[in-house]
Amino acid sequence: MPTPARRTWTAIVRILERDERVFAVLLAVVMVGGLATMGLALRPRFRIDLPSLVFWFAAYKVGILALVSVNPSPRKTSVVFSGALAVDLLLIFALLYLTGGYDSLFYLLFFPLIAVNAYYFGPWIGLGGAVVAGLLYAAAAVLTPPWVGWNAVLILIGLVGLPALAVGMVANRERRARVEVERLNAELAGTLTRLQAAQDELVVAERMATVGRLSLKVAHEVRNPIAAIGLNAELVGDLVKEREGEDMEEATSLVSAIREQVSALDALTEEYLAFARFPRPQYEEDSINEMVTALVEFVRPLATRQDVALETTTDQALPPMAIDRTLLRQAVLNLVKNGLEALGGKGRLTVSTRRVDDHAEIAIIDSGPGITPEVAKRLFEQFFTTKPQGTGLGLYIARQIIEGHGGTLRWESTPGQGTAFTASLPIKRAEDV
Ligand code: ADP
Ligand code: MG
Repeated sequence: MPTPARRTWTAIVRILERDERVFAVLLAVVMVGGLATMGLALRPRFRIDLPSLVFWFAAYKVGILALVSVNPSPRKTSVVFSGALAVDLLLIFALLYLTGGYDSLFYLLFFPLIAVNAYYFGPWIGLGGAVVAGLLYAAAAVLTPPWVGWNAVLILIGLVGLPALAVGMVANRERRARVEVERLNAELAGTLTRLQAAQDELVVAERMATVGRLSLKVAHEVRNPIAAIGLNAELVGDLVKEREGEDMEEATSLVSAIREQVSALDALTEEYLAFARFPRPQYEEDSINEMVTALVEFVRPLATRQDVALETTTDQALPPMAIDRTLLRQAVLNLVKNGLEALGGKGRLTVSTRRVDDHAEIAIIDSGPGITPEVAKRLFEQFFTTKPQGTGLGLYIARQIIEGHGGTLRWESTPGQGTAFTASLPIKRAEDV
């Protein structure tokens, strides 16, 4: 618990944190103190009521402090301080004039006044102030003879001006250093904030990476059992086929249902694994036409079972080009599978290649229901799917692979009539990759 005294002290320190207030206080202390000290040198023949003067002068300085505290805009503050400097100079001039001109000791007040102002206004105002002080001194001497010549004036200007110059320069340097420190401080604060944010993100990312590794492991682990179940179901199917009877017919349809589910599960894990592994592409010169033809033959049994007319046309003008055959096959397979799934049953699916200038295009066109605007918005989003057993990764992976080849994947769809996905790949030779 801070004590009241401590709290007051803290409040004062807080008030003095601002440059203007410190300056106003310093100048007040120096000038009021200087003026009071001059009482020691005041000869009785000059009838000046110094205690009252000190009092009113102190009150005036408190007023200045209040003014710059209430209205702290830098421009106004510097106007106030310029005015105060002029008033102080004139006050000293008046005192000089009233107490014997050249003989008076009040010229001593010029030293603290100009030195402290040089701290605030910088070296050149300090030097200018010294010149003005010298001239006021000369004027007071002229008005209160005897005039003693310019030497005393020059000495005053030199002795007031040179320290002011030094103080002003040091103050400027210190101010620049402080601005730099403040800038660095702000930069540091920004960096720290960003670091903190990055750290928070890292924690989340690490957790996600762990979840990812876990899923990868699970997907990997279930592959072998799935394959075994598939194989055993096939064997059971063969056994069942050899026997007659109503029960056996039912068994056949059950076994084929099992095999369907198993192959769906197999496709699912394959897609997850393709997403999770994301291998580095290995580009080698290969024929897109051959790859597409082989792929179409691979899916033909599935299409036939679904009663889909699967057609393929290849453009012989396509030269062999640098592709990662395995990855590109995966991309086209994802699009073909989407086409078959969109058809659901009977329909038409065309896979074709075409050379367009220096690009190879692979188009997968289905006569399915098309893509609604709601689905279109989220088409390529990871894990977005409208299918009960979908992964929502097929299109994402396909696009990633095609863009990895430097190509683009575009699509067009007419609701009720069908959808076309087209991969466009730049024709590059192996040595260009
Ligand atoms: P998944 O096939 O696992 O659902 P995809 O990323 O391959 O994931 O596809 C995302 C969604 O885009 C699908 O669920 C489907 O709604 C829609 N879609 C993709 N291809 C077609 C298509 N040829 N016709 C109609 N809808 C499609
Ligand atoms: Mg898909």
